[in-house]
Amino acid sequence: MRRACRLFFALATIAAIAVAIWSAPPEPSVAEWQSWGAETDWELSAIAHLLLQGEPRAQLFRDVVVLPLREANAFVNPDGWLLVTEGLLERLDGRDEIAFVLAHELAHLIKGHPRNLETNPTRLERIRTEVERGLGTSVVGTGLQVLVNAIASYYSREREREADEEAIRLMAKAGFDLTAAERALKRLSDERGFLSWFRSHPFLAERVEIVQRAVREWRSKAAPPPSLVPPSERAPEVFVELQIASWRGAERGLWQEFANEVQQWFWDALMEATKQGTCPFYPAKRWQRHRAVIWRLQVTPLSWQLSPLPTLAEWQRWEVRTQWLLVDDRERRVSTEERFSTTFSSTETARSAILSSAPLFARRLAKFVVQHCQEVTPLQAEAPK
Ligand SMILES: [Zn+2]
Repeated sequence: MRRACRLFFALATIAAIAVAIWSAPPEPSVAEWQSWGAETDWELSAIAHLLLQGEPRAQLFRDVVVLPLREANAFVNPDGWLLVTEGLLERLDGRDEIAFVLAHELAHLIKGHPRNLETNPTRLERIRTEVERGLGTSVVGTGLQVLVNAIASYYSREREREADEEAIRLMAKAGFDLTAAERALKRLSDERGFLSWFRSHPFLAERVEIVQRAVREWRSKAAPPPSLVPPSERAPEVFVELQIASWRGAERGLWQEFANEVQQWFWDALMEATKQGTCPFYPAKRWQRHRAVIWRLQVTPLSWQLSPLPTLAEWQRWEVRTQWLLVDDRERRVSTEERFSTTFSSTETARSAILSSAPLFARRLAKFVVQHCQEVTPLQAEAPK
């Protein structure tokens, strides 16, 4: 009896380990996606739910997660998370083109398409490096492995054809503009990135033909365009387009590098500033601009000075005078002239000192926008177009 008992426990333990191995790596929750800088979005979730309305296998879907990667890619993992990169969304023009990409991925999910996993170790290693580089060092462990597996798996050509056809049916039923599918395909086929959404898919001409045929079939049965409304507690979304003019002096290259750095930091700075300020708006990202109010912030360099500090022989000071002009969607403007400077010792190069001051410059710009936003435009929640 005791022996039978022991045998039972041994078998149970082996079974438990086997289950643990089979189910590893654990599936990330929304919170875990967010810890990598990924986020969910009300519009993407709404589009996906509309596309899936009334579909028998809709319960397989969890949510859409936007990954902060420059590479253009989208994929759905077996647990129902639809992952899409900012890089892909930025390349698309508006809601209906986004709907096509989401519909294509959701089609794979609800049709239960089996995937082939990439097993070439060299290619897997390259994908892992790309993902790490894109997401920064914050991504570690099993989460990254899930992501790499998702990216490194592909569907057969036949499944891709099916997903394109099915995408058009889902779009027609939800009332999205069917002609957006062909536009999105053509736009994305220019994409040459290593992890490109397009790379694993059949050739462009073939996909366009499939889509055109499906559009002819579904056009007459299409629902009226949907209206997607942001959640009522959501502050109005404003996309602040930062335009930094070039500098004509000898230092134009370094100014350009500085400007690019400032662009990188600007959205985070704006997000931070709106949290502290009294200006009730949500800073939209570039890919969200199609649904946002658009303001322009123009920065023009007026003078550039690099000189030794009179009191401290080893120290230098960089100072730029710039003009800032904030223009809202009704062409109302606020402007100011700003001096910005940084001092550094001879142990540091001017280039590195200037570039490392970019986050501070971005924060100043963000503060300016938030301080003046009430003067520019009295904000009201507006229904999206
Ligand atoms: Zn596909």
